[in-house]
Amino acid sequence: MQLSKNKMRTVANLGQHLQFVSDSQDVQAIREHLGEDAGNYDAFFVDVQNGEYVELWGMCGIVPYHSKLTSRLIPAGESEPEHASKTWNVLCLGCEAEYVHIGPEPNTCNACHSTDVETRAI
Ligand SMILES: [Zn+2]
Repeated sequence: MQLSKNKMRTVANLGQHLQFVSDSQDVQAIREHLGEDAGNYDAFFVDVQNGEYVELWGMCGIVPYHSKLTSRLIPAGESEPEHASKTWNVLCLGCEAEYVHIGPEPNTCNACHSTDVETRAI
């Protein structure tokens, strides 16, 4: 399993909703969930909802000093939700309509519903 570590934070800056996990059995379970790449972390901060890890931070050492650095761990295939809407310039190759769309990237023309559209974030 590949991990992307796109963020680092100190313990002091982690969200209060996260649960600190340093018990060796629990840590082992999280390591197995993440795969080999997570093996160098000794403790984790987790948010578990419905049995799924929705947020995971790894920490070296088992004492969560406020100044310690943690790394955000995201299992492969998962990505952070994109909250921000984008503005797209849409060109339909079916009806040749060209218009501006705000929101998630469109994949159909809103005039003729053709899927043959070119989009460009603007
Ligand atoms: Zn069209």
